[in-house]
Amino acid sequence: MLSGLGGIFLIKLFLPKMYIKNFQCLNLESLKAKGIKVLICDIDNTLAPHDEAKPTETAVAFIEKAKSMGFKIAVVSNNTKARVSTFCDGLDVFYVNSAKKPLPFGFIKIRKHFGVEKHQIAMLGDQLLTDMFGANFYGVFPVLTSPLVIRDIAITKFNRKLENKVFDALAKKKMLVRGEYYE
Ligand SMILES: [Mg+2]
Repeated sequence: MLSGLGGIFLIKLFLPKMYIKNFQCLNLESLKAKGIKVLICDIDNTLAPHDEAKPTETAVAFIEKAKSMGFKIAVVSNNTKARVSTFCDGLDVFYVNSAKKPLPFGFIKIRKHFGVEKHQIAMLGDQLLTDMFGANFYGVFPVLTSPLVIRDIAITKFNRKLENKVFDALAKKKMLVRGEYYE
C-alpha cells in the first residue's frame, strides 16, 4: 500500500512539520515567527488524558501563555459535545466537537471563525491518522506531540494499530522516528 511514488506522496500526508514530546515543549516563538496566528489543539492525549474531564493547571497555563503572545486558540476534537464542552468550559476558546478528523469540517469552521488563511493556522495533535493527515490534507501547519498517556478509547486503539504501520513506514524512510523530536 505504501510503496512506490504514490506511496511516498501518501505517506507525506502523515508527516508533521514539528514533532514534540508534549504541549509544554511547543515552541510558540517559532510558530509565531512562521506567521501562525491560530493554534488548534486536539484534546484527548494532546492537552489531557481522555478520562480527565477538565484541563490541568499546566494545560490552562499553556493556553493562557499562547493567548498572551497573541495566538487565537481553538480546540478541535472528534469526541462528543459533552466531553468537549465540559473540557473547554472556562477556557474561553472556540471549539468544534465531533469533528470527524481527518475530514476538514472542523478546520473550515475555525478558519472562517477567525478569518485567517490556511498558512496562518497550526494544528497540534497526537495522532498521525486524524490530526496530522487532516492538517496536511487541509493545508495547515501540522505539529505532532507524543500522546500524554498510553491509555486510549476503543476507536483510538484501533487507529493506533494502523498508526503503528504508518510510523514503521515513515521510520523505514527515515522521515519520522518515534521519540526523535524536531522543530
Ligand atoms: Mg488525540
